[in-house]
Amino acid sequence: MADAPHDSQDTAHVDTVVVGSGFGGAVTAYRLAEAGQSVVVLERGKPYPPGGFPRSPADMARNFWDPSNGLHGMFDLWSFRGLEGVVSSGLGGGSLIYANVLLRKDERWFVHESPLPGGGYENWPISRADLDPHYDRVERMLGATTYPYQDTPKTLALHQAARRLGLPVFRPPLAVSFAPRPGAPPVPGAQITDPDYGNLHGLPRSTCRLCGECDVGCNYGAKNTLDHTYLSAAQHHGADVRTRCEVRGFAPRPGGGYNVSYVVHDPAREGRRTATDRLPLHRIRCRRLVLA
Ligand SMILES: Cc1cc2nc3c(=O)[nH]c(=O)nc-3n(C[C@H](O)[C@H](O)[C@H](O)COP(=O)(O)OP(=O)(O)OC[C@H]3O[C@@H](n4cnc5c(N)ncnc54)[C@H](O)[C@@H]3O)c2cc1C
Ligand code: SF4
Repeated sequence: MADAPHDSQDTAHVDTVVVGSGFGGAVTAYRLAEAGQSVVVLERGKPYPPGGFPRSPADMARNFWDPSNGLHGMFDLWSFRGLEGVVSSGLGGGSLIYANVLLRKDERWFVHESPLPGGGYENWPISRADLDPHYDRVERMLGATTYPYQDTPKTLALHQAARRLGLPVFRPPLAVSFAPRPGAPPVPGAQITDPDYGNLHGLPRSTCRLCGECDVGCNYGAKNTLDHTYLSAAQHHGADVRTRCEVRGFAPRPGGGYNVSYVVHDPAREGRRTATDRLPLHRIRCRRLVLA
């Protein structure tokens, strides 16, 4: 996996450029690479190998995304009128900070010609049955499993609270490795058996230790995040996964395809203010462009 500046004369031509390495980008990159296409993934953030997520207050204070101010960290906060947002910048996108809960969209929400309050209607052209085979495949790739321990204090408290409120409680599938391999009994801190090709960080991972730090990044590699799953598989199938590459623009090419331009956030500039609008532009050409 590349984590270094690239040649500004880079005018390579590939089948597909995928912008972003979150859920949309990682799945697309893997499936296209698996099908034999040449794929380049451009991800603005940096890789987070096991042990690479900040923990100290000082490091957490710098764990934000604002390269102009020298911040190359993970949390990218957005503020709109009446709406705040937090997204993740890093190899694996939102999977680095999400809560690992893999719910299938409720069948009742695939509405057909359902009237909207302001007029018009909502119409889903597909059904849950159409999506179920794809949910199956994603759950296999992400190692979906229900929380295996029945008697941990928070589990007991949740059951007790639900009983008091008369509400149902269930344990949803989680993209977390509790056992060293599928079908084995759960055990905290055991080494996980990766596929033969390993993972793109080239580092060992261990099973969930129940530390509850999932939303600030799992330092044990127990979360089956996209870097450990889809992106490792994509790289195994030949995808060129590039980090610190922020796409700045794209334009259709005469005759088809796209020119894509991007800047590289040099690790040496981390912690230092940088005129990011003056960074040199790198270019790549592609037949298909996926903005994810
Ligand atoms: C705290 C938290 C907990 C969550 N928990 C859950 C959960 O348990 N279950 C669930 O289903 N969902 C959960 N979500 C939601 C889920 O994470 C998002 O829906 C999902 O990540 C969106 O996927 P995406 O592919 O659209 O984008 P993202 O995963 O956000 O990926 C976008 C990627 O594009 C990169 N990027 C952006 N701009 C550029 C550019 N110009 N050039 C190059 N790269 C760029 C970003 O750095 C990022 O890596 C949670 C979200 C948060 C914030
Ligand atoms: S080891 Fe901690 S951070 Fe990692 S999945 Fe388990 S609870 Fe979450």
